Parts: sequence; structure tokens; C-alpha cells
Amino acid sequence: MYPNSKLLIDGEMCEAEGEATYPDISPWDGKEIGRAADGSVSDLDRAIAAARRAFDESDWPTDHAKRIAALRRYAAVLQANRPRFANLARDEAGAPGASIFSAACDAPLGMIDGWLDVAENYDWEQDIGTSEMFGITSRRKVWKEAIGVVAAITPWNVPTQINIAKVLPALAAGCTVVLKPAPETPMLGSLLGELAVEAGLPAGVLNVITSADAATVGAALVADERVDAISFTGSTATGKAIMAAASERVAKVFLELGGKSASIILDDVEDFAQAVGSGAMVCFHAGQGCATITRMLVPRERHDEAAAILKHALEGVAYQDPNSPMQIMGSLISRRQQERVLEYIEIGKAEGATLVTGGGIPEDKPEGFFVEPTLFANVTNDMRIAQEEIFGPVLVLIPYDDDDDAVRIANDSVYGLSGAVHSSNMERALDIARRIRTGTFGINGGMWYAGDAPFGGYKQSGIGRESGIEGFEEYLETKCVAFPESAAA
Ligand code: NAD
Repeated sequence: MYPNSKLLIDGEMCEAEGEATYPDISPWDGKEIGRAADGSVSDLDRAIAAARRAFDESDWPTDHAKRIAALRRYAAVLQANRPRFANLARDEAGAPGASIFSAACDAPLGMIDGWLDVAENYDWEQDIGTSEMFGITSRRKVWKEAIGVVAAITPWNVPTQINIAKVLPALAAGCTVVLKPAPETPMLGSLLGELAVEAGLPAGVLNVITSADAATVGAALVADERVDAISFTGSTATGKAIMAAASERVAKVFLELGGKSASIILDDVEDFAQAVGSGAMVCFHAGQGCATITRMLVPRERHDEAAAILKHALEGVAYQDPNSPMQIMGSLISRRQQERVLEYIEIGKAEGATLVTGGGIPEDKPEGFFVEPTLFANVTNDMRIAQEEIFGPVLVLIPYDDDDDAVRIANDSVYGLSGAVHSSNMERALDIARRIRTGTFGINGGMWYAGDAPFGGYKQSGIGRESGIEGFEEYLETKCVAFPESAAA
């Protein structure tokens, strides 16, 4: 059992109001791993007040060098605690070994220095020259300034990646932050808070409020006038609710939402089996990734061959040893999510798609929240299993007639997060890449996921970008200052 996790408010790790706690459940066996502080709206109120004070009354937003030095110390403490993040990623978020060595732990910890480099080397002031307007010749400077208090609202799938990708760039920009992790993964959020105290971050710059209530604390955070910007990752439905609420007071939103990403296998691909076999990555972290490839598009005449390759690949995905660095597949986060995925499998059958493999709970995994690696073939893109985000280990195979048809199908989605193409002809692959309306795109297995690469979506996959310079600038405001050319600069 893990010790009870706490809230971070104004530089102190503390209990929730009334010492309220709730159970933190392991996805692997459905058992309690410990209890988490169940923060209330009044705990949140204190956290927002602390963040506001730290922004308005300290030099955190303005003393860039001092702030970056403090964050370098924080980064070192986070990295030194890698085993705690790794263990909790496994025990609380259900991350299997392969995910811990990448998106669930090592990748985000490895990205921090790069984000701090962006901040350290950032040009906070630009001279855009003089202009004459209304008879006044003015010199203009464009200043970049921290946007203010940021609400970071995060999901349960890769909590450390998403918590850190919001908190570190926002703090580096000079903002102060209230982090509200998902109810399912409170301890990973609380750990960021505990280590901020250990690293000596100034009181109030980071606050962490965990809560069992999925929506109440989140909605109160979004509605609060003292919060300047909302950085959210999660479902498109919640993203729309947040955007609507934020519009009431014209607060800035950054939204990283759902996806239904397509991989197009072109007819000229040299190693068809390898390209098609990449579809087994739908099982990575049990398919709980917003940018996971969940639709595979193959030439119509090779559809049955592709189905046979994928059947073999998916049936070979092991999920017995969560500690193996080779294991890509884990449990779903919760009973609710397991039921949701199983419901989608029933929908696929009722829609007339061919269930090639999987479709149920594995016989040898009655505990926990597992769903078998599942493949539907003969899918048409108008089916709900091709249009809606399932967030489980479910791949749909869709035949196409020619390149134009493949592009049309890939783009026929409300989402636009990611995508891929496999071809032996780079020009042809690049042409496809230019025509696909998504925020990231991989060619022949090329990987866009990195701290210095902007990540985000077109269409209903979101607004704005995380990581890279674009991600850093989400946390900045722009001020244009002008003075007569004759005045001292
Ligand atoms: P969600 O979008 O409901 O929750 C994400 C976060 O938003 C959590 O911290 C939650 O507490 C908070 N939240 C919920 N309602 C809120 C509100 N009204 N105002 C402010 N914050 C609010 O996601 P979920 O319920 O955990 O999962 C549902 C589905 O979302 C999944 O099945 C999956 O399809 C999708 N999902 C997508 C991503 C992604 O990265 N795109 C991540 C997790 C889940």
C-alpha cells in the first residue's frame, strides 16, 4: 500500500477539508493501492488564491533567471525520483513496462530540460522598428509576458506526461499553476506537488488539488475569475464544456482532445506485413492514447491478407508481465472504461463489421479491467467504431480504392490529431502527408513525439499546441509598447 497522498496548497502538503480521502484503485486487479486526498471546492479556492498571490505579488513572472534556476533544481529532484514515478505509473495508471520506459515515465522526465532550455533562450522582447501614425513617429517593442494563473486539468491515461507537459512549460513561462489531475490518478499528481516542496519552489507557484469528483472541482476551476488560462487534455465532450464555460469570461483555453487517427498503407509498400503489423500498437497502454492509430486503411485487394496479418499480430500481444520492458499491453484504467470499450465492441458487431479476433475479457485475466486485443475488418468509415474514440485496444480495418479515396476516408472524421502513411515512394508519402488534416503525421514509422516538437490537433482534436516553442507560447501574452522615436529606449 502507498501512503495517503495529499494536496499542495500555498507551499504546504496538506489534507483535504475534513480530512476527506477516497480509494485509489489499481487497474491490474481492482484493489486499493492507498487513499488520496479528496479536495473540495473550498480547498480549490485556497489553491487559486495562493496561485494568484504568487503571480501578482512575487517576482516569479518577471525574474526569468531566478525562476529558471529554481526550475532546474525542481527538474533534478523530479529526475532523481524516477522510480517513484515509474512505480506509480504501473500501479495507479496501469502502464505496462514498455510504456514506463517511454510515454508513461521516462520520456516526460527526459523532456523537462529541453522545455527549460526553450524558456532560458527565449527572446522576451523584440524591436519591430518605427512607424509613423497620426503624425507621431514611434518605436515599437513587442514584449512577451506570462499569461497569469493557469488551470491545468489532466486525464488518467499518461498522467506524468500530460501533467509535466503542462506544469513545467507554464511555470517556465512565469505563470503560476493549479493542477487538477484526473480522479483515477491522484498520486502521480500529488507526487509532483510533494517534490516541488522538496525542491524549494516558492509557495503558491504550483498547487495540486486531487478530488474524487470528476467534474465539480474542475468546473469550479474553469469558472473562477482569478484563473487566466485553462490548459486541458481529455475527452472532446469535456473540452467543449470547458470552452463554453471559459467563453463566459473570455478566458484563454488550450485544448488537447480526442483522436481517431488513420494509418494508410499504400500499395507500393515494400514490406507489407511489417507496415500492416504496426497496427498491433493499438494495444500500447491498452489503446489509451489520444494519438494512437485506431483506423488502418489498406488497398481493397489486399484487405483479407491484411486482416490475417493483424489477427496473427494481435493474438501474439502478451500481457502477463507488467514489469517486462517488452510488454506494450496493460489493463484499462477502470471498470467504467472496460465497460465502455466492451459496449463499442457490441456496437461494431451490430453495425455489421467482421470481428476477426478478440472482443472480450481475457479468460486468464478475470481481475482488473482487461479487454482482449480486438480487430474489426470490413469496416466502413461511416460506422460508429470508425468515427468515435473508443480508447481501448480496438483496431478497425478499412479498405480503400486509390490514394484519393484513402485521403478522403482518413480526413472523414471530426478529429484531426495524428496519422501515418507507409510507402516505398517518399514523394507519394509526402503528398499524402500534405493532404491529411492532422496536427502530427508519421511517414514509414517516423516518430514526431518529442519535447521540442509541437503536438496538438486540427478540428475537434483541439486548439493550440503542447511542447516545442509553440507549446511554450501558449502560456504567454503579447504586449506592444510604443514611444516617440526621440525618447530614450
Ligand atoms: P474527461 O475528459 O471527462 O476528464 C479529463 C479531466 O477533466 C479529468 O481531470 C476530469 O476530472 C476533468 N473534468 C471532467 N469534467 C469536467 C468539467 N466539466 N470541467 C472541468 N474539468 C472536468 O475524460 P474521462 O471521463 O476521464 O474519459 C472519458 C473519455 O475521454 C475516454 O473514454 C476517452 O475516450 C477520452 N479521453 C481522451 C484523452 C485524450 O488524451 N484525448 C484522455 C483521457 C480520456
